[in-house]
Amino acid sequence: MKYWNKTLRDMSEYIPGEQPENLNEFTKLNTNENPFPPPAPVLEAIAKQCNGNLRRYPGPSAMPVRKLFAEKNALAPENVFVANGSDEIFTLLFRGFIEPDGLAAFPYPSYSLYYTMAEANGISYETINLDESLDVNFDAFLEKKYDMIIIANPNNPTGRGVAIDKIQSFLSRYEGLLVVDEAYVDFYGETAIGLVKQYENLVITRSFSKSYSLAGLRVGLAIASKDIITGFLKLKDSYNVDRLAEAGAYAALLEEKGFRYNIEMLRHNKEYLEDALADAGFEIVPSKANFLFVKHPGVKSEEIYTKLKERNILVRYFNGPVQSEYIRITVGTMMEVKLLIKEIRDITGAE
Ligand code: PMP
Repeated sequence: MKYWNKTLRDMSEYIPGEQPENLNEFTKLNTNENPFPPPAPVLEAIAKQCNGNLRRYPGPSAMPVRKLFAEKNALAPENVFVANGSDEIFTLLFRGFIEPDGLAAFPYPSYSLYYTMAEANGISYETINLDESLDVNFDAFLEKKYDMIIIANPNNPTGRGVAIDKIQSFLSRYEGLLVVDEAYVDFYGETAIGLVKQYENLVITRSFSKSYSLAGLRVGLAIASKDIITGFLKLKDSYNVDRLAEAGAYAALLEEKGFRYNIEMLRHNKEYLEDALADAGFEIVPSKANFLFVKHPGVKSEEIYTKLKERNILVRYFNGPVQSEYIRITVGTMMEVKLLIKEIRDITGAE
């Protein structure tokens, strides 16, 4: 740490879900990836980029993706920013939008990368606990003057969704920058994109990592007023989205039918998993995402996590108040779901 600055020394570390090298030996239900591959045309579009042009830099702002997404959502390309995963957008927000002495706020529990990225950029923040039903306590976010608030809709790790009218009503009372992280919106959600034209203090983030099965490609989007998007473009790395990522994201946006089919299958698997876990005695937080936040009345979540891992099944367990009572299970293929249920019934002693 000799050459680290104080911020780096003091910041907490983001702990990603395990990504084992011997991936094929595991049933991996811990990082909310999509178990189905993207449709073939998406893979073909990526492969097609592996030619002599790779020696050339990509376009600086992935304009074809911006144009196509804008066209599909009745926006202008100037309302869309393409990022190296939606994670990049959070970094940029803390680096260049909130003042260094500003104050951010996030719900807890939520996606812990917000806390880490705020710290990495020297931004102070507060967390506001979810209420008893694990919903966002919007009134509490108005009790102080917060310069930036990020909420995930649906939230990770709980899977709970927020109704758009609640977001709108909050925006009518809030003057700072509200970021709505819609990484999981495609599974069941209602999007707040329609509010971008009305509220210039709203940023929506989207990810190609979940519904589009492209977590390995690293593409995300920010949708906001032209002024905010201009800020992102000024602040980003020179070529933040590579040629493969740009081609994959573009092709993915054209492949709606294939993705809708995958999402339908996942919804079916999720309902099956919900029923089976309820049958095994689990308490399940109603989820609008591709994962379930669950706890068992008799067996500690950490123990379930550890025992599943011993059987080569990875689910997510988080330390910390409230969340350590639960495990988060990503919905997988039907085979994965059935294997998980078999083992989890055995571990919890379900009849
Ligand atoms: N937002 C939330 C709420 C997430 O759970 C995740 C994935 N862990 C992300 C954003 C990250 O998305 P990306 O892969 O696009 O960086």
